[in-house]
Amino acid sequence: MTSRITHWINGKPWDGPAEKTGEVYDPATGQVSGHVDFASQSEVDAAVAAAAAAFPAWRDASLAKRSNVLFKFRELLAARKSELATIVTAEHGKVLDDAAGEVQRALEAVEFACGIPHLLKGGFSENVSTKVDVYSIQQPLGVVAVISPFNFPAMVPLWFVPNAIACGNTVVLKPSEKDPSASVFIAELWAEAGLPDGVLNVVHGDKVAVDGLLEHRSVKAVSFVGSTPIARYVYETGTRHGKRVQALGGAKNHMVVLPDADLDLAADAAVSAGFGSAGERCMAISVVVAVDPIGDELVEKIASRMASLHIGDGRRTGCEMGPLVTLAHRDRVESYVEAGVASGATLAVDGRDHPVDGAAEGFWLGPTLFDRVNTDMSIYTDEIFGPVLSVMRSPSYDEALELVNSNPYGNGTAIFTNDGGAARRFQNEVEVGMVGVNVPIPVPVGYYSFGGWKDSLFGDTHAYGPHGIHFFTRSKVVTNRWLDPSHGGVNLGFPRNV
Ligand code: NAD
Repeated sequence: MTSRITHWINGKPWDGPAEKTGEVYDPATGQVSGHVDFASQSEVDAAVAAAAAAFPAWRDASLAKRSNVLFKFRELLAARKSELATIVTAEHGKVLDDAAGEVQRALEAVEFACGIPHLLKGGFSENVSTKVDVYSIQQPLGVVAVISPFNFPAMVPLWFVPNAIACGNTVVLKPSEKDPSASVFIAELWAEAGLPDGVLNVVHGDKVAVDGLLEHRSVKAVSFVGSTPIARYVYETGTRHGKRVQALGGAKNHMVVLPDADLDLAADAAVSAGFGSAGERCMAISVVVAVDPIGDELVEKIASRMASLHIGDGRRTGCEMGPLVTLAHRDRVESYVEAGVASGATLAVDGRDHPVDGAAEGFWLGPTLFDRVNTDMSIYTDEIFGPVLSVMRSPSYDEALELVNSNPYGNGTAIFTNDGGAARRFQNEVEVGMVGVNVPIPVPVGYYSFGGWKDSLFGDTHAYGPHGIHFFTRSKVVTNRWLDPSHGGVNLGFPRNV
């Protein structure tokens, strides 16, 4: 029996009929596990109306009340993280341990937002002019929309929702239609934590739901995460409709390995960061740049580690890498393996031959390694978003840097070296938003902010941490003068501070 996954509006599941639904799969078995409702414009309107109605009271809720709800949600999420990880694995396919790691990173973002009384403190200047005081306050925007991708169905919504709510906004979340159940589970937990009805709503669906939010007059801001073409579209459409938009896009993350690096450490990191979550991470390493003369040795070390990877159903003990999210995506990734071969790259490890510990109908594709990849090949130019790792050879540090900086994406990058001076120069010169030194997936902790440069981010505000608070508030500056006997007289001149 399959389940129906429906919207969450005004504190309860939506009980209206669905005009359109989509199939949700268990990627490890290839079976349909549920049907998700796709919101029509009227359902988007209902969710936005619920959020708009909840806004005045939530905006005025004290910081103590808001932070109590956040702390309670944090407790519930921590207590039930294995349930949420199980839901993630069942619809996304990543192995359970990886799903648990995703929930753990989500908790960090919640914990940051728990500090909201401190985070919303404004500035105060006494006596800027005689008997005049000035202070700044940060106020919520109103109804905000969060639109998230399939690859982190728990973490990415929770990059945004806690800060948005903590700042006093109300939210409509539109998760990926490929793995929608995590967001409903999260909405139920918020309700249990005491969040008033309508403060968080969830609508499922596709472009209709997204466009409905982007064009809605009552939606004041949009936080989007997904592929670059859709991120660009969301940014352009949202801003054209007068909204504040941050749209995080795709990636092609390079890991530069200098000749003095510990090659075992680098090979471990390349395999972990290339194939964890089947390469379906925006911070996955997809290109290893081996600076001469270490290429042959590094390729051999990476290939030998790949041979022992245990691919299979993420619920089975010992599995390290699960299936791809859908059959269509699996086939698309496989087509890149074929394109790589056709374009003349050296196929060092062919993932199509890798043994699998799972049902035959699952969306499997083992890890592939290409060597001697060049910048004209589609396996280099395109974001594949699957378990395909490319090695490129570079004659020098300068050319490796130039390669990274010439790429249109700028999400994450890493350098592996034992030379502190080289690492420092790299962090200074590289045009990428998140940089790791001997760390392959440098996802910032919850009290910094996450975001790329160039085509990996449209807008200028990163996700969560201090940028999140900035994005979900607007500031007001109040200039105060309490009358005293020295006041008096009309003055048409521009106010001077004396
Ligand atoms: P996607 O762009 O296909 O979908 C993202 C969201 O947009 C989903 O909610 C989807 O329903 C909606 N959408 C899809 N097509 C649309 C359209 N034509 N019009 C309006 N809305 C549309 O992305 P995905 O496949 O779900 O996720 C993978 C992508 O997300 C990768 O490119 C990955 O790099 C990126 N990603 C980026 C980050 C980051 O922080 N930069 C984080 C995670 C994922």
